[in-house]
Amino acid sequence: MRDATTIRTTCPRDCYDACGITVRIAKDGTVNVVGDPDHNVSRGALCGKCSIGYNGIWRDESARLARPLRRIGPKGSGRFQPVSWEEALGAIANRLNAIRAEDGGSAILHTHYTGTCSLLAGTFPLRFFNRIGATEVDPDTVCNKAGHVALQLMYGESTRGFDPRTIDGANSVMIWGANPSTSAPHIDQYWLGETDIPKIVIDPIRHETAAAADIHLQLYPGTDGALAFAMLNVILEAGRIDRAFLAEHALGWEEVECQLAACTPSWGEAVTGVPARLIEEAARLYAEGPSLLWMGQGFQRQTFGGNAMRAVALLPAATGNLGRYGAGFLYLNGWDTRGIDAAYLTAAHMKPSSAKTISHMDLASRLESPETKAIITWNNNIAVSSPEQGRLRRALEREDLLQVTLDLFQTATANFADYVLPAASFLEFDDVVMSYFNASISAQVKAVPPIGESLPNQEIFRRLAAAMGLTDPELFESDAEMIGTLLGQAKPGLTFAALARVGTIDYPPTPIVQFERHDYRTPSGKIELAGSAFVAAGLPSAPFPSAEPRPAGGELRLLSPASKWLMNSSFGNDPKILRQLGEDEALMHPDEANARGLSQGTRVKLGNATGTLTLRLSLSADVPKGVLVAYKSRWTVNGAVNVNALNPGRKADLAESCAVHSINVSVAPV
Ligand code: SF4
Repeated sequence: MRDATTIRTTCPRDCYDACGITVRIAKDGTVNVVGDPDHNVSRGALCGKCSIGYNGIWRDESARLARPLRRIGPKGSGRFQPVSWEEALGAIANRLNAIRAEDGGSAILHTHYTGTCSLLAGTFPLRFFNRIGATEVDPDTVCNKAGHVALQLMYGESTRGFDPRTIDGANSVMIWGANPSTSAPHIDQYWLGETDIPKIVIDPIRHETAAAADIHLQLYPGTDGALAFAMLNVILEAGRIDRAFLAEHALGWEEVECQLAACTPSWGEAVTGVPARLIEEAARLYAEGPSLLWMGQGFQRQTFGGNAMRAVALLPAATGNLGRYGAGFLYLNGWDTRGIDAAYLTAAHMKPSSAKTISHMDLASRLESPETKAIITWNNNIAVSSPEQGRLRRALEREDLLQVTLDLFQTATANFADYVLPAASFLEFDDVVMSYFNASISAQVKAVPPIGESLPNQEIFRRLAAAMGLTDPELFESDAEMIGTLLGQAKPGLTFAALARVGTIDYPPTPIVQFERHDYRTPSGKIELAGSAFVAAGLPSAPFPSAEPRPAGGELRLLSPASKWLMNSSFGNDPKILRQLGEDEALMHPDEANARGLSQGTRVKLGNATGTLTLRLSLSADVPKGVLVAYKSRWTVNGAVNVNALNPGRKADLAESCAVHSINVSVAPV
């Protein structure tokens, strides 16, 4: 069957890779979604989940939501009736306007995250919520906020990381608390796989990237702060602290150095479980430089998450691994590194000063409160991905709570909604994608018509604004106008048509050296390693060698990383992916299982004060003793629960961010 049309587009999932895609449309209308061979990151391949999903449920009319739905059964029953867009939006508009008049916009909550990471679909709805003064459930609090705020306090910003192209000038690369083999599979395969510089990986799990590394420091979860200090002790003893750099560019080093004498490698081994000789080897290699440090999001999802990020982020400053080619750190590379003005995208000027933000950790309790009158969920699936799963679902059953959910599929969250609004997929509208790792600008090009009556997020909120009688021009700017403005901000003269022809450009075209001018955006203009700003944020003045106490009473630490077959909760309803996922498992070290009289395949019940979860046990020497691993984001329709049933929503030490990797559970055979 010959292709009639070939269209280049880009994957907008919550993934470092931002792969190029080729959509082939055959003469008989068959659509085939494959990798773009000209894309420099993915080189013609998509990951397994996207290959399956984009050719499966994403284009399956029977699986997708095709019309607006109105609830006709009890909340959570999943019983709905199709209605017209006019009827759905009219009814929602009337309720929202009544709430605004009686209780104010802050009684309307909205939750969103990374269901679609393209610029318009991921942010345009914020213009609407800013305009009505709704309460935003801060999306990053369920993921990476502690790390962002820690870096902002130290370095003045968190989204201007190293340029990956500078790896050709590095002597080593250290990856702390990230799993590229799952979260950035092509960057793992090519960017990391094709360099022969030594790789250090720091992670409690011996995942594929860790197994392929030259040095893997397999620390016990929650001991990252202690490990960073033990490495600094080695660097100090080796005379490799860059005192000239610290004197010129940093404040507060003396408050760190006075803590280092006690943090010897043997102390580090006792606290973290990492052999002292590996701590020494890794510290010396990193200090030699130039070294790149990739800080993932996993290690800051703990009780001491803010402190852990501060401690790890000491390493580049203490060793002068900043401001030169081949050195630097990366948490995320934000759209601002490509010139994008977020305030324009979100119409931040329309947000009233009284508008509130709450943490995801408080979502369940806020939904219980009668002060909350409505919740609108878009680009996320809170019944699957948020903490306190049982409590949250009970709160969503409130009959007096207006719930509106936008999605491609009838998710567990959508089952509780009063109105479900069908969103178009990324294959069905134009947008712009920018990787949060590489310096790329990519076109997301409409390749096929939307399924049924589904609409892009931005069009849904334009129509809702109109139904509510709002008239602000910002709420009605067209996609084409916004794309033109965004590309103009990123690269003056770049048109969408030109970008769509090539799919992706690297921009700026030549590599950037992070902090080349040492222009730290802190109040002092220097890197602030310690100081009163941290105290004001609720932390000690200086970072310290934190180590969370290990679980007692036979309990285990529960880690819930991403599965390579899921993207958050996306793809969890594709039958082929469900076959790949198999039965829901808990991974345990064989010695740990032996000691507990458990064996491969035993069904075990995990429990704590928040809830219980039954899984099948799988033995794996990749998991440290004292730890259980249960992958996150399984779908939870028909009353099923996933690992968030055990998540009490405790907050980390900074920014009301999550501490999901600090959960302890009991385990017993069923
Ligand atoms: S999820 Fe990531 S690896 Fe998979 S196709 Fe999309 S960008 Fe590529």
